[in-house]
Amino acid sequence: MKKNNAALHGYSPLPICDSHVHQKFQLPLETTVQVFDEMMDHFNLSHIQLCSMPCYDRTDNYRAFYLKSLRSPKIYVAVGLDHHYDERDTAEYYLQEIKRYHAMGADSVKMLEGKMFVHRKLGKKLCDPVFDLFYAYCEEHQIPITLHLGDPIENWDLSKMNEYAIRKGWYCGPEDPTREELRQEVYNVLDKFPRLPLVFAHFNFMGDDLDRAAELMEKYPNICFDLTPGGDMFIGFTQNWEKARAFFIKYQDRILYGTDSYNFPPADCSPEEGNNALRTNLVRTFLEGNEIFTETTKKYPFKPFGFEGEILDKLYRENFFRLYGKHPHPLDKSAIPEGARALLADGKDLDDLMQENLQKVIDHFEKTADA
Ligand SMILES: [Zn+2]
Repeated sequence: MKKNNAALHGYSPLPICDSHVHQKFQLPLETTVQVFDEMMDHFNLSHIQLCSMPCYDRTDNYRAFYLKSLRSPKIYVAVGLDHHYDERDTAEYYLQEIKRYHAMGADSVKMLEGKMFVHRKLGKKLCDPVFDLFYAYCEEHQIPITLHLGDPIENWDLSKMNEYAIRKGWYCGPEDPTREELRQEVYNVLDKFPRLPLVFAHFNFMGDDLDRAAELMEKYPNICFDLTPGGDMFIGFTQNWEKARAFFIKYQDRILYGTDSYNFPPADCSPEEGNNALRTNLVRTFLEGNEIFTETTKKYPFKPFGFEGEILDKLYRENFFRLYGKHPHPLDKSAIPEGARALLADGKDLDDLMQENLQKVIDHFEKTADA
């Protein structure tokens, strides 16, 4: 029998929850379902949260609702705001967006608006009053927001960036806010909405700055960090190993497991474990391992935390359920096709495959609405 990921690497055999998964690749819906089924099985994932990014593909929220419906109650959905990038994006529009998605069955929100290329396209600060009604609604209803804020500091220095990041347009130039200015935008939001359950993705790129990470945790008791690899956070943890380990122990109720796993096309998956193993193994080995290791793509030796027992349960499962609920927010199966039809009719930026997938979503919910 083929061994699963935990058996292959000697990880804790208990089922775990991944708070940060994307449908990055444009595939027919059935293929995505199949890929995620295999991923959840192999990585022993009892629950995943799909983080939608309509800035890449406007059908993302609806495809996520479809997967949630099909694999209920194992899938949670973090919706993304669908911007027009023009004067239609008013405070009232954003309020209606979140109300609509929340009623449809969103469990949380994913914001990529703190990543520079989206921030730039939007032309607004994260603390712009245009988002106030949206934040206020999330705060009032305690809807968590996973926020990608800024980037590794290299992205502000062209000479230190890799080819891939440059090609993706991730360079932040003199016209853009600095990383500190970006961070200040979010502190302004938190000062205004202190009860907002904000999850900073990628440890907020503060793996090498644990004093400031702790300062943030103390100042805003409702925020959390996720462990989705980004930048060199595990190098930062290794360099300040004792301090980092103490941070994890102190804030063990406010750190979430996440990997940035994707619906890789089946043909792309390596026969051994599939492409999602790279990030999964990095995070899990760092949390659970006891010996210094190097990750396949990086030469740097990591010194893992060697956690076991209760703290792992919290990072892998309990914090997820406490933040997003023991059961996913129920879907309103009649509201979803209505929204999906409106998007299909609008048609802007939708290629053939996106339209086909959206039609499948509509058909699915029309069929199951009264069931
Ligand atoms: Zn992500």
